[in-house]
Amino acid sequence: MSITLSLTHDCNLRCSYCYAGRKSHRAMTRATMQRALEWAVGYHKAHALGRNFVLGFFGGEPLLEWDLLREADALAERLCREAGLELRRTLTTNGTLLDEEKARWLTERHYTIGLSLDGPPERHDRFRRHADGSGSYAEAVRAVRLLSPYREPCPEFNCVVRPDSLESVPEAVRHLAALAGFPIALNPDFTAAWKPSDREPFRRAYGEVADFCVSEWREGRPLHVTWIDAKLKTLLMDGYREQDRCCPVRRELAAAPSGNLYPCPNLVGEDDRADLRLGDVFSGIDAEALRKALSRCGSSLPACKSCPVAPRCQNWCGCANWFSTGRTDAVSPFQCFYEKTTIELADRVAETLLAEKCEPFLAHFGEFIRVAAPEVAAEVSGAARSPSASLPQPQPRGSRADAADAAPAT
Ligand code: SF4
Ligand code: SF4
Repeated sequence: MSITLSLTHDCNLRCSYCYAGRKSHRAMTRATMQRALEWAVGYHKAHALGRNFVLGFFGGEPLLEWDLLREADALAERLCREAGLELRRTLTTNGTLLDEEKARWLTERHYTIGLSLDGPPERHDRFRRHADGSGSYAEAVRAVRLLSPYREPCPEFNCVVRPDSLESVPEAVRHLAALAGFPIALNPDFTAAWKPSDREPFRRAYGEVADFCVSEWREGRPLHVTWIDAKLKTLLMDGYREQDRCCPVRRELAAAPSGNLYPCPNLVGEDDRADLRLGDVFSGIDAEALRKALSRCGSSLPACKSCPVAPRCQNWCGCANWFSTGRTDAVSPFQCFYEKTTIELADRVAETLLAEKCEPFLAHFGEFIRVAAPEVAAEVSGAARSPSASLPQPQPRGSRADAADAAPAT
């Protein structure tokens, strides 16, 4: 189980596409934080939800509540130790409040950090501004520098894609790749009004990203763009695995500053979506709300039932669905297009690099290729005439590409 604490409704930025809604000084109290963690670890243990317990921080901007975050971390560590669970940690931040001490503290605890950065200054500062209108690019880049020495796990860039910023997507990816070798999550803004006329520019922009990815792998500079990695794995594994899919409570849960529980951090917003609430940390899960949420998991569209790429489609992403259609179980035409296009382009990347037997690529995806393309694996390993031609073990993953890559903007 993963519980994400939304520590505050406040943020020092005013990004134009923020999912957190209006900013206010409402922050989680220490008592609510304690209750949230005691309840969540207890629930995880009672329902035998596995060995790993994931604690996440989200906002608003979680670093505004640094002392509370540290207290929550210490409490979660103690509770997990007592319960015999392994604690994993994630943080989504705009990075502007990061300093050396915080960066060290987070990385010593192996936080997986999602850092919001939209590309070069003109692109980033167009959307991610302070309340006074000034851009935040320089501060976000300072955070990149602070985090660059730390690679275990590797931080990840969160870069938002909107209809009015499509043209600059390839440039943004090149910029981020040059800045630091972090995985890049291109997150479409599903609240935006995507029109049919956006499809061609979208295909062009993402196609250019796929081509850039191929050229980087060829040059021995592995580039992890999360939608490409995720769709490649679905190609090699015949679809998403059960554990890749969101599932309210069993795998994913978020607590608002008030203690109200939601199926996903992106849905907390201003904490006024009563229809999406699953209970609260004081009285626990509302069984009827959970039953309804589970019954609305995955797409209910008839077209999906016979779609050949359905196992590789994220039509089950309830928050992407909700933001684009107002229902957790209904996929928008844009998302359907998005899924088909990213699958097609990722397959193009895979076919090219597999045909060329690109060694770094084979090394990284070796585990998956052995299963899905044994003839390629056998040919490369079996050759073994040259040690450099052997198929190495997969590299340690720094990327969260196997998580839902189409998660909304943060
Ligand atoms: S998107 Fe993130 S950084 Fe931007 S205003 Fe919202 S909470 Fe703050
Ligand atoms: S690609 Fe479209 S039709 Fe196919 S499963 Fe996904 S949303 Fe449904």
